[in-house]
Amino acid sequence: MSDSPKPQLRREMAELPTYKAGKKVASVNGLAAFKLSSNENAHPPLPGVLAAITKAALEINRYPDPFCGELTKAIAEKFDVSIDEVATGTGSVGVCQQIIQAIAGAGDEVMYAWRSFEAYPIITTIAGATNVAVPLTSSGQHDLAAMLAAITPKTRVIFVCTPNNPTGGIVTQQQINKFLDQVPTEILVVIDEAYVEFNCDPNAIDGIATMKAHTNVGVLRTFSKAYGLAGLRVGYFIGPKHIAEAVRKTAVPFGVSNIAQTAAVVSLENESELFERVEQVIALRTWFEGELTKLGFELPASQANFVWLPLGDRTLDFVTKSEGIAVAIRPFPGEGVRISIGEREGLERIIEFAKDFVS
Ligand SMILES: *Cc1c(COP(=O)(O)O)cnc(C)c1O
Repeated sequence: MSDSPKPQLRREMAELPTYKAGKKVASVNGLAAFKLSSNENAHPPLPGVLAAITKAALEINRYPDPFCGELTKAIAEKFDVSIDEVATGTGSVGVCQQIIQAIAGAGDEVMYAWRSFEAYPIITTIAGATNVAVPLTSSGQHDLAAMLAAITPKTRVIFVCTPNNPTGGIVTQQQINKFLDQVPTEILVVIDEAYVEFNCDPNAIDGIATMKAHTNVGVLRTFSKAYGLAGLRVGYFIGPKHIAEAVRKTAVPFGVSNIAQTAAVVSLENESELFERVEQVIALRTWFEGELTKLGFELPASQANFVWLPLGDRTLDFVTKSEGIAVAIRPFPGEGVRISIGEREGLERIIEFAKDFVS
């Protein structure tokens, strides 16, 4: 302790990973570079969204609406909930942080499956709460029985990420119903549906209906993936009124810019156009999974805009050998590789490379 630099940091800071910015993909041998490492939407903004935010830019000398009034109303209408049940934030990561700050502090436990979304442990640690990471099953699914068994009197929040990042699988409605029957209602269960628009499995959980049927369930959604607004930072929570109110209180004041609010509102108005693009992503995913399977890879079915290759010890070998193809993918050393369903050309290049990798 004595040799730590002064002024001193909170104890929890030592546990936080140092942020590593995603590697920029360089073009190699004249090959165009593709970034398939962050689950972004490869489509450019809709013309209508671009026009609206250009107009909104004329007002950047003003603070935005701190309560995202118009957006909150649009979200409430879309899901047939009251505006009191909605809270917005700077991306659903921002909302996730607001939730934990409102609910869990020192001595409290925040539970999630692992591996899952990397923000959960970081945000929990920053809040000074205790991380309870329950391993996924060997097929990459949430082990809800093990999660139930890990509940203690200190558990305050449980995140259920479905489809799960990075493994791509879903939790079924039947599984979550059984789970919720046994979770004490004092615990908030947050269903993180960042990728829900890409799901095609009819057995998957309906987060909003589940939220409506319980007093201790909330849903997290984002405009970053299916709606293609990752760079603008807008996400939201729908859940019990007193929780939504608390989540609004812990938000960074004026965090969601007027440009972001405008883009989100216009995106909701143009959902049909956006969802055509989602269909294209799903078709591409089906093709990509099929090609990889033909090559002999075993991969869990994905319901998201990425696929998971559980390569285990061969993960780094795969990533190192793929460096010449100018496509950024996301390695989790010792576990696997996550590949976003972005530009088709990038995915085709991976298939070509993967043929050599297996042979
Ligand atoms: C991408 C992602 C989010 C959304 O992040 P934003 O902050 O809204 O960009 C939330 N949860 C999971 C699991 C994600 O993968």
